[in-house]
Amino acid sequence: MNIVIDGEQIQTDKTFPVYNPINGEIVASVPDAGEKEAKQAVEAAHRSYQAWKKTTADERAAFLTRWFQLIEEHTDELAEIMTKEQGKPLKEAKGEIGYANSYISWYAAEAKRVYGQTIPASKPDKRILVQKQPVGVVAAITPWNFPAAMITRKVAPAIAAGCSVLIKPAEDTPLTAIRLVELAIEAGAPAGLINVLTGDAETISDVWLSDARVRKLSFTGSTEVGKLLMKKSAETMKRVSLELGGQAPFVVLADADLDKAVAGAVASKFRNAGQTCICSNRFFVHESIVDAFTDKLKAAVEALKVGDGMDPDTDIGPLINQGACDKVARHIEDAHSRGAEIVTGGGTPISKGSLIMPPTILKNVDESMICMKEETFGPVVPITSFSDEEEAVQQANNTPFGLAAYLFTENMSKALTLSEALEYGIVGVNDGSPSAAQAPFGGFKESGLGREGGPQGIEEYLETKYISLGL
Ligand code: ADP
Repeated sequence: MNIVIDGEQIQTDKTFPVYNPINGEIVASVPDAGEKEAKQAVEAAHRSYQAWKKTTADERAAFLTRWFQLIEEHTDELAEIMTKEQGKPLKEAKGEIGYANSYISWYAAEAKRVYGQTIPASKPDKRILVQKQPVGVVAAITPWNFPAAMITRKVAPAIAAGCSVLIKPAEDTPLTAIRLVELAIEAGAPAGLINVLTGDAETISDVWLSDARVRKLSFTGSTEVGKLLMKKSAETMKRVSLELGGQAPFVVLADADLDKAVAGAVASKFRNAGQTCICSNRFFVHESIVDAFTDKLKAAVEALKVGDGMDPDTDIGPLINQGACDKVARHIEDAHSRGAEIVTGGGTPISKGSLIMPPTILKNVDESMICMKEETFGPVVPITSFSDEEEAVQQANNTPFGLAAYLFTENMSKALTLSEALEYGIVGVNDGSPSAAQAPFGGFKESGLGREGGPQGIEEYLETKYISLGL
């Protein structure tokens, strides 16, 4: 597959392969773009922006709606590409295409609701007008765990706001991104409005981040890289949105509905084999129900079908690469060696050389174990118990991260007060899948800056202009 710059498909002499994590086969090769292509893309995006910023909201909405329709028509094809490059089960991949597309339809409508303000002035011969204008050229750097949704979550609001976009998808999963951009061109995106480049991440991002014409960085990925890119963005004072790592606590109170809690645990933990930034990572369960919860969860986990994502029955596919499997194994071994008990699963892949790790439950874990301190990014449920709810919340907050938290209780008063006490950007109360296009997604603390989705998500791509009008 080729990259897309200025509406043209571009090849380069050097390419790199994209592997299928289920069998290690090469799915396709993509261009290894460098400085030259990165600069060309900025030129194109900047040129395109000059025209796009003058379009009406109706025109922008019409383009997004055409793109939405094409993506919908190509759902099966896109889902297959995604499963092949990423490994997630086909049914999840189809779900992700629908979810990714929901950002496009939602922001097609939201484009028309970018309102300004008039504010009463202190002098009779003055008027205060507040307008919203697009921020300019946007650089979007995305991870491999949601090859479609992480693109549309940034591109749809940016385009709706009147910006142009440069995309650098993750090297493991560039194919879905490229196909999405091809469909955008087919839907009538003007040349240069949406560009996608594959190649060395640092080389490409250095060109984009040092160029003053790029006015905004929207990044999803690790906290470490997010901090680095934020520093580089400071040089030209770019606006930044960062959606970084999580360490989601999953708190189950004594009065919780256990069936809801188990369903929520499976939904929040095992999506994409545990490789999402809002995956529950630390389970705090009240001591009076910890055994019952663990037993029910064990039954639910053992019913999950592991295997090739292309098999329509598969619930859990392979992890993205060997490094991801090694990390999961290390977390399980560390916990086991410090006294945790393996209830089901374990730290070895289901067969030699496979990247499929069995879904695992650990009990009797404690705060000293790596799995309670670092994001595992794999199918592991570490369970600890508590007696005091306030202490559980304190433990849940005891991390530099603050993206998503989950709370299970039937007591609505506790649901609200404890949600307010949790230092997290997203709290799922009796809900293991809180993400939605119309809701603001983002983190507190070292989980990032800014929000994606909802009315907040388009603000990230808008500047506020104050016009003081003397009459
Ligand atoms: P993950 O742990 O999800 O792979 P990363 O932060 O490593 O997260 O990667 C997220 C995105 O950031 C990918 O597109 C990757 O290519 C890009 N990236 C990684 N390192 C750098 C870097 N030093 N400079 C710019 N982009 C980077």
